[in-house]
Amino acid sequence: LGTSLRSSLDKLQGKRRLEEGDVEEIVKEIQRSLLSADVDVSLVMELSDSIKARALDEEPPGGTTARDHVLKIVYEEMVELVGDSTDLPLENQTILLAGLQGSGKTTSAAKIAWWFSKKGLRPAVIQTDTFRPGAYDQAKQMCERAEVDFYGNPDADDPVEIARTGLEETEDADVHIVDTAGRHALEDDLIAEIEEIDDVVDPDRSLLVLDAAIGQGAKEQARQFEESIGIEGVMITKLDGTAKGGGALTAVNETDSSIAFLGTGETVQDIERFEPSGFISRLLGMGDLKQLSERVERAMQEATEEDDDWDPEDMLQGEFTLKDMKKQMDAMNRMGPLDQVMDMIPGMGGGMMDQLPDDAMDVTQDRMRRFERIMDSMTDKELENPRVVGQSRVRRIARGSGTDEETVQQLLEQHSMMEQTIDQFQGMGEGDMQRMMKK
Ligand code: GDP
Ligand code: MG
Repeated sequence: LGTSLRSSLDKLQGKRRLEEGDVEEIVKEIQRSLLSADVDVSLVMELSDSIKARALDEEPPGGTTARDHVLKIVYEEMVELVGDSTDLPLENQTILLAGLQGSGKTTSAAKIAWWFSKKGLRPAVIQTDTFRPGAYDQAKQMCERAEVDFYGNPDADDPVEIARTGLEETEDADVHIVDTAGRHALEDDLIAEIEEIDDVVDPDRSLLVLDAAIGQGAKEQARQFEESIGIEGVMITKLDGTAKGGGALTAVNETDSSIAFLGTGETVQDIERFEPSGFISRLLGMGDLKQLSERVERAMQEATEEDDDWDPEDMLQGEFTLKDMKKQMDAMNRMGPLDQVMDMIPGMGGGMMDQLPDDAMDVTQDRMRRFERIMDSMTDKELENPRVVGQSRVRRIARGSGTDEETVQQLLEQHSMMEQTIDQFQGMGEGDMQRMMKK
């Protein structure tokens, strides 16, 4: 799925304007990915509408290609959808875990404790599950592995009493994580029990623990727990499986909360702090979108900052010399593989690229290096006015640069093609030009 989204985006390469059809296609790909990741239909529709509206209404900043523009919008809207991670100050606090049986609460309690211990705090886990046989042993073992304090009582049968005693017994700890019992489904006694524990524990935040495979069942659970104890964050477990956890977004939406942690395996270290960009990439099944959009921004910035003496507008005022061409090639060289950066260069990515003959910019790194050696072998006068370069000069330059006459000719031809294109651009209005050349 991710590859088809990427190929829809790649189709925009070199395009300056987004057309409705382009946007439709991209939005369709995103919808497909998100729906198969269990994101709620209405959330997907909301997202689609925002992306469409922005992509078609907003004017891309000068020098931005259609692809960069839509990429940025998709990323921003996805961040809006998944939200920021739950605020978790590194200080004394009590965290209550809620969720159905098997969602991963007990495992997550030990993982969260381990996470806080790595941050230099002293956590303790309090196990209040008297419902599930073996709950005490399981929690105790995991806390031993996490090397964190633990309190539980296998002989007691009142979870509220265990919670009260547990908090007293672990008062030396900074962070208290209270694990609770679950049920197979939402039942009144489960809700009543967790409400009582909530009263006694008075947590700073309650986290809802959800299996990544939860799907649409997340909605009712989230609503119930939100109503009874209030939910401040979500932990999505079992993300090491095939489920992408999109259902949890429904819970986030329903509780007006955010995602705190991700569980990615069965051991206590398999925990990640939620971070939007990684999760977005997972949902879309696409490489790091954040990195991609940051790279776009960086490349644009470098392209405008890299040479104080060289103003692309000067190039458009007068002659396009070989010196200008060399500056352009240097600039491109600094930015990485050509085919990837072409689209990101202000002025080059936009309309100008479209107008160049196909092979005009077909400059491989290797060919570019040879071009540079050739230009190093040319006199200032030749660089300023390539027209003076006749057959005998071509021979001299080829010899001097250790290349051949054919390559020198190619360079001159390429320059002349670019020059013609730029001539056409010079006929355009001042405003168009500035939009094209400046970020
Ligand atoms: P609880 O009933 O909510 O306390 O859930 P448990 O912590 O007992 O977890 C139920 C099962 O899910 C156990 O077999 C755990 O090992 C497993 N589990 C929990 N979190 C993860 C996870 O992030 N990845 C995987 N693969 N398994 C997990
Ligand atoms: Mg448990």
